Amino acid sequence: MDKTSVAHIARMQLEKAARAMNLSEDLVTVLKCPKRILQVTFPVKRDDGTVTCFTGYRCQYNDARGPTKGGVRYHPNVSADEVIALAAWMTWKCALVDLPYGGAKGGVVCDPTHLSEGEMERLTRRYTTEIMPILGPHSDIPAPDVFTTSKTMAWMMDTYSMFTGHTEPSVVTGKPEALGGSLGRKEATGRGVAIITRELFTKLKRSLEGATVAVQGFGNVGGYAAFFLSEMGAKIIAVSDSSGGFVNPDGFNVPELMRCVDEHTCLAPYPGEKMDKDEVLYKDVDVLIPAALENQIRGDNAPRVQAKIIVEGANGPTAPEADEVLESKGVHVVPDIMANSGGVIVSHLEWVQAMTGLYMGEDEVNGRLEGRLVRSFEAVWRKAHELRVSLRTAAYIVALERIAEVHRYRGLFP
Ligand code: NAD
Repeated sequence: MDKTSVAHIARMQLEKAARAMNLSEDLVTVLKCPKRILQVTFPVKRDDGTVTCFTGYRCQYNDARGPTKGGVRYHPNVSADEVIALAAWMTWKCALVDLPYGGAKGGVVCDPTHLSEGEMERLTRRYTTEIMPILGPHSDIPAPDVFTTSKTMAWMMDTYSMFTGHTEPSVVTGKPEALGGSLGRKEATGRGVAIITRELFTKLKRSLEGATVAVQGFGNVGGYAAFFLSEMGAKIIAVSDSSGGFVNPDGFNVPELMRCVDEHTCLAPYPGEKMDKDEVLYKDVDVLIPAALENQIRGDNAPRVQAKIIVEGANGPTAPEADEVLESKGVHVVPDIMANSGGVIVSHLEWVQAMTGLYMGEDEVNGRLEGRLVRSFEAVWRKAHELRVSLRTAAYIVALERIAEVHRYRGLFP
């Protein structure tokens, strides 16, 4: 297996936790592989009248605990390997925060910055049609991920509804509010990252007031994580996105950064002190929040990381060799499946609301989100101390115990 494969990384993390908890070999064999992966290639009419073929995937990793759930990513680096890893992480994440879901992920290999709105809509509708045989409110429920938004979810929901002959709002989450999207969903992942950071600080008997934070990736997750952390008193002193990096030792005005991204789609025009975008990872800060893509902190660059706490907003930002380096330096790493679970927690509330037709106020959504996050973090913290393992291994163990129990009750078909 290729060492740079993210699916390989996901498998190594599973095996490490499985060893620490003596998980049965048979179950490890089952959990090492995705249940189903669909690859599709489909044509899309471009604005200039030509046709381009795109490749897309949908992986349903494990559905023992319920319908599978996971985002759809549009990015040039999407691959079967990446989608499998992301779907595995969704499986552990849903179990860790005790949602009645399995894990899935989808993606289309494309560069959305080179597609017009009309091309994005046609691509989304055709991709949805191609993966429709395995979608459904009781089988697999997509949500937004990198370069997909509530608008993408609206097109997916409408396409699915056209084929079923009735409006089906519970087939996707992260929809616009007018279509049954949940209040608080847009902010949920970043809000969760901030809440989990606050919980860790409380455990460490430290205050967030004046704590310095660097954020890699200033999209949905990074932007809102920075916003809520600055509201809690932290100082955001370094940020980056794919267009570049910025530093401000006095702390940024986060709403100004968010306005810049809203108006220009990236940070590049922001009138502040620039730096190389990768430098954000190496700033001497209390907290580093990687909130861009996977494999950002690796064996080769982990020794340069100075932060004492890493809270993973992105999925899979830290490679296993980097974990070892960070552990030996005493860095607290809150793993992705815990730190960024706020999004799927509110997605679950959105699905429940769409299924029942009974909608919740924003305070109820945020209260339920916070309650589930705090309970889950407490379970991870306790497990880590009980077994003297890292927070990542502890989070995996809590998740795998729940999945193992379900597999035990269900037995092996036939
Ligand atoms: P997004 O598209 O809104 O934002 C991604 C950001 O990362 C953008 O600012 C982009 O410019 C930046 N980026 C890309 N490459 C970069 C690089 N090399 N250096 C610095 N910045 C870079 O996507 P998002 O929804 O915020 O997702 C970010 C991560 O969080 C992904 O790993 C995703 O899987 C994960 N995640 C998202 C959600 C969610 O609810 N959106 C939930 C859980 C996990």
